Amino acid sequence: MSWLDEFDTRLAALDAQALRRTRRRVRPGPGATMVVDGVPLLAFCSNDYLGLTQAGALKAAVHAAVDTYGVGAGASPMVSGHSEANAALETELAQAVQLPRALYFYAGYATNASIVPALVGPGDAVFSDALNHACLIDGARLSKAGVHRYAHADLAGLAAALQASPARRKLVISDAVFSMDGDVADLRALLALCEAHDALLLLDDAHGFGVLGPQGRGALAAAGLTGPGASNRVLYMSTLSKAIGVAGAFVAGTDRLIEWLLQKTRSYTYATAAPALLAEAARAALRVVLGDEGEALRQRLQARIAQLRAGLAPGADAALDAAGWRLMPSATAIQPLVVGSAEAALALMAQLREQGLWVPAIRPPTVPAGTARLRIALSAAHEEADVQRLLQALQAAAARSYR
Ligand code: PMP
Repeated sequence: MSWLDEFDTRLAALDAQALRRTRRRVRPGPGATMVVDGVPLLAFCSNDYLGLTQAGALKAAVHAAVDTYGVGAGASPMVSGHSEANAALETELAQAVQLPRALYFYAGYATNASIVPALVGPGDAVFSDALNHACLIDGARLSKAGVHRYAHADLAGLAAALQASPARRKLVISDAVFSMDGDVADLRALLALCEAHDALLLLDDAHGFGVLGPQGRGALAAAGLTGPGASNRVLYMSTLSKAIGVAGAFVAGTDRLIEWLLQKTRSYTYATAAPALLAEAARAALRVVLGDEGEALRQRLQARIAQLRAGLAPGADAALDAAGWRLMPSATAIQPLVVGSAEAALALMAQLREQGLWVPAIRPPTVPAGTARLRIALSAAHEEADVQRLLQALQAAAARSYR
């Protein structure tokens, strides 16, 4: 039997463990609804935290950009793809996150997967939080540096590992907001450890930029670590695909670090630049995020988070208490409800879907075994009544399971 035939049995094994992933065909509906395989569902699965994917200001920016720039970028930024729009976006991103310089990439995954190998290599050491996003993990692997994985948020463990490491170049990599748990890393403590051990800190704030900190400037600004006194040992990375509502990503830091990344990041050099129409959309989004409208959207989002957490707090509903579903201690738009087994999470997702709600089940290997969950993602696009509907559907599902 050829090894190619084994793919059938391997796929069947995924089915047997309830681990086969499928995609749905979607298009946006009104408000926070999505038409999913032809059926309108109220969606709690998007990282569009401020509802900007549908914003008129962004659409108008794209229409205008298409007229000026056309569609594709045509070449790598190192050849002829670095449009005036992309250049302007880099300046505005650096200003937004209050760091000296920024570099704009076509995708977040590719950014982390390729900047880590540009920074460190064989003989160097990477220190990685156990819950980091896959693209940071893959970047560390690609770098061929030694990788020390520390338990989630275990700063004492990280300190000991930094102390014990003989490597001359040490890079600490961490999500700022953890994508499946919603908690925020202690950035001050991480940076202090990096200062103490001559290490560089790379932060992935994909889920914080636009949402956290003053004017949505992100988790680093929220921790008071940006501006004129910013450390020269921090690289701040975020996608533009979540709260910003577009696509692409950026990394910001000191001029010398960004200049080095410009020289040495393979996905920057060898990939076609992000189209100017996306840069113009991101520029329009930044204007919204940094302005009064952004503030109002963040307040709306905070109100929904508080509403959901109150509705799922212990004691709020007897059936929910009996079900033992546990909301993780998150203050961000990512509100995971831990259910337990992959099968239980899938069953709950299916029940909610019957009620017209789309809340994704996240299963191993994305999260540890036994902690399969519904990843409830809230957005400023949600109405109070939307969250109320979700709460009622969860209560009904809990009552059905524990009658
Ligand atoms: N980092 C984190 C923490 C993410 O959640 C994601 C998206 N899932 C990425 C990076 C990748 O970004 P993009 O989707 O823009 O490629």
